[in-house]
Amino acid sequence: MMDSCGTESFNQKTSTLITIEQALENINDAITSINGSERVMLKNALGRILSDSVYSAINIPPDTNSAMDGYAFSSTDILPNQAFSLSLIGTSWAGTPYEKPLKSGQCIRIFTGAVVPTGADSVIMQEHIQSNGSSIIFPESTHANENIRHIGSDIKQQQVLLLADKKLNSSDLGLLASAGIYDVSVTRKLNIAFLSTGDELTAIGETLKLGQIYDSNRYTLNALLNDNCINITDLGVLKDDKKTIKETLVTASKTHDVIISTGGASVGEADYIKELLDECGQVNFWKIAIKPGKPLAFGKINHCYFFALPGNPVSVIATFNKIVSPALRLLTGEKTIKKNIQLTAICNSSLTKAKGRQEYQRGILTQTPSGEFFVESAGKQGSNIMSAMSRANCYIVLAIECENISVGQTVTVEPFELSI
Ligand code: AMP
Ligand code: MG
Repeated sequence: MMDSCGTESFNQKTSTLITIEQALENINDAITSINGSERVMLKNALGRILSDSVYSAINIPPDTNSAMDGYAFSSTDILPNQAFSLSLIGTSWAGTPYEKPLKSGQCIRIFTGAVVPTGADSVIMQEHIQSNGSSIIFPESTHANENIRHIGSDIKQQQVLLLADKKLNSSDLGLLASAGIYDVSVTRKLNIAFLSTGDELTAIGETLKLGQIYDSNRYTLNALLNDNCINITDLGVLKDDKKTIKETLVTASKTHDVIISTGGASVGEADYIKELLDECGQVNFWKIAIKPGKPLAFGKINHCYFFALPGNPVSVIATFNKIVSPALRLLTGEKTIKKNIQLTAICNSSLTKAKGRQEYQRGILTQTPSGEFFVESAGKQGSNIMSAMSRANCYIVLAIECENISVGQTVTVEPFELSI
């Protein structure tokens, strides 16, 4: 419904089902990446985000060196279409170079990574020569300029090694170390608090009474948030008590960048989270046309972003993957939301699906030796069925308009943990 100004009223806006694309667009517009950086030792930098571009102070490799174990010589000594012999005058070891210049008619023994001396421009593999002690016979087929790694051929001095905003992987750390860099400036860590809500929740280790269940969501979230870019605060389990929840959220919002709650996000009598967000913050959207995970509130309390995830354990994982995770990546400096890699696979199970929401059904993806993808249902698709979630290795993505799938139909799948 439009208000008198012609704009949608707040409640109308936040209670309408929006598509996942609209939700992500809203998140993209709402989120500003965090400020602040710190220097960390290279060995602690895995998974951190570079806050500045890094340049190399040296050439890599720092010297021209051999790519093979063999003999270094000058190409000017090659005789066209015939074998030739050069006198062996020394050895260049990796770390212990042969320091004199090579003269015409001379060669040296050289090992992989050893400096190629002045006067030499070629290396022949040791398998291709014949040795008679003091001289080496080079075959007719000897080529010039082979098996040499030239100074700066990987990275030139002052060249950029890595650009700002790069999330450092193991190869990046190796690259930086090869340039002699021992610390880097990275974006500060995100401070994220998370909590479960629900009167029925019991801590693992205790005995369940009638009507109680174990609080599994905090263990899932703890694992999902296991990232070197994140500091976590576990706020525990809160009872469905509006006052306590409100106090906890407002207090946590002052010292955290993000709060993630699970449970209490729908419209049940005891579901306070959305109401509280309306009271003490701002709700950007509330319901998304996805399954699992429809009731999900995204908003802000003070400067702290807030994700109120549904309580059902499978919904927690799906909404974290689809909504929270892209948002956290934007917060740490990614410029746009990256898409998950999607494949098409032949479905080996019949799937039940009604129009109206985009579904992320849990599937098991396999590939035949010839490269064809097949997917089958991982089991029951209820949003409480963690055994199927645990068995799955992909989501079967079924669009809003899509209905039941029969065996043999082609479907879209997203393998877990794959994005470009
Ligand atoms: P709610 O969103 O609070 O209505 O919860 C939806 C369903 O998820 C209910 O069956 C809850 O018991 C269950 N649930 C809520 N929180 C958790 C939790 N932390 N761990 C496991 N199940 C939960
Ligand atoms: Mg609840």
